[in-house]
Amino acid sequence: METLLDHKRTVSTALFAEAKKLFPGGVNSPVRAFKSVFGTPIFIKKGDGCHIWDEDDQQYIDFCGSWGPLILGHNNAQIREHIYAAVAEGTSFGAPTRLEIELGRLIIDNHRYIEKLRFVSSGTEAVMSALRLARGATGKTKVIKFEGCYHGHVDSMLVKAGSGLITFGESTSAGIPEAFAQETIVLPLNDREKLEETLQQEGHNIACIIVEPIPANNGLLLQDPSFLECLRLKAYKHNVLLIFDEVISGFRVGFEGAAGYYGIKPDILTFGKIIGGGMPVGAYAASAELMSNIAPDGPVYQAGTLSGNPVAMAAGYAALKQLLEPGFYETLAAKTAAFVGSIQDYADSKGYPVTFPHIGSIFWVAFATERIIAAEQIDPASMSHFKVLHLELLKRGVYMGPSGYEVGFVSSAHTDADLAEAAEQFKAALDIVFNS
Ligand SMILES: *Cc1c(COP(=O)(O)O)cnc(C)c1O
Repeated sequence: METLLDHKRTVSTALFAEAKKLFPGGVNSPVRAFKSVFGTPIFIKKGDGCHIWDEDDQQYIDFCGSWGPLILGHNNAQIREHIYAAVAEGTSFGAPTRLEIELGRLIIDNHRYIEKLRFVSSGTEAVMSALRLARGATGKTKVIKFEGCYHGHVDSMLVKAGSGLITFGESTSAGIPEAFAQETIVLPLNDREKLEETLQQEGHNIACIIVEPIPANNGLLLQDPSFLECLRLKAYKHNVLLIFDEVISGFRVGFEGAAGYYGIKPDILTFGKIIGGGMPVGAYAASAELMSNIAPDGPVYQAGTLSGNPVAMAAGYAALKQLLEPGFYETLAAKTAAFVGSIQDYADSKGYPVTFPHIGSIFWVAFATERIIAAEQIDPASMSHFKVLHLELLKRGVYMGPSGYEVGFVSSAHTDADLAEAAEQFKAALDIVFNS
């Protein structure tokens, strides 16, 4: 593949100027604005397999994968055919359809920790609903979350640790009343003592602990399984529900997500991204007993005009069905390990201070040599390296999400040859990062 050292953004730049007149920052989700990397956003017009093409007709090997959903790559034939078939019958009815049952059954039959679920339309909506369920079922109001975990743009989740002994949250966004933020307690990951202390003092007010079991929205902060087990045991002990936010990890590190990977049963799970096969779908799931709290069976209200949308259900079904093929996850994990291993070996041979934490088909470029498991270990200054890497990769036909805090995703559409090519481009880009 030829590289794009004379990288062009003529059409993208013109489109961005137009988009800025229409949308705040020219985008419909902030990280797309390229604020932490060089240049204007690249407008994409097409994707196929592991490749995307921009409006200036340049081709890239894509590791963003729409931020996680595209574990089968772009324009997957089976997903496309299922979507076409569904669209031909009409796109929305606001009444139950067979397709909801097909996707629901596929998930429940293949996930040991789920008895019932409810489909929604995004990961944020799944988390918002799961928190309401936890509060409704326990009659308690406070929530524990962890620094470095992202749970969508739910009011009570856009918080950081405040000051004080028990760190009631401070909001990280304008427009969130202080009183909402204070319902959230923010703790550092992997700090078992602080967790125990908080549960002892506040457990009677705490509805749930929510965690990304594989935190992948602020670097890849891989936890010791023993910390996740500790969360499970302490939640039982203090009569608090445990929510695994598996919007990224669900169907990514295995069909049963992180819960299955670690063999830990949370009380409530949330899904998004992969579950919709590239269409807007989210879900929250739990035991039949807990889910009986949800309307119309129970008092916790939650609804959605487009929930269980037939086109989205068809896409999700076609996607998840393929993930159940024997060996799917093993092959993908092995490919990913070989890919990052090759870049790591090269970086080590050159003495570059960069590591590639990875699990399943998720990887992160960490400009550090120590193992990073908590948000505060990430040196913000290291992001200047990512900025250069990002540009040099674009010039070499490799697309990564435009922030050094984001992870990369390998899909089943990345062939060994694609990954070998991408690894060579990574190595060349790292030479520039560390030698200029
Ligand atoms: C992406 C993500 C969300 C939010 O999902 P949206 O579909 O963007 O609303 C929530 N939690 C986690 C762990 C995520 O990765």
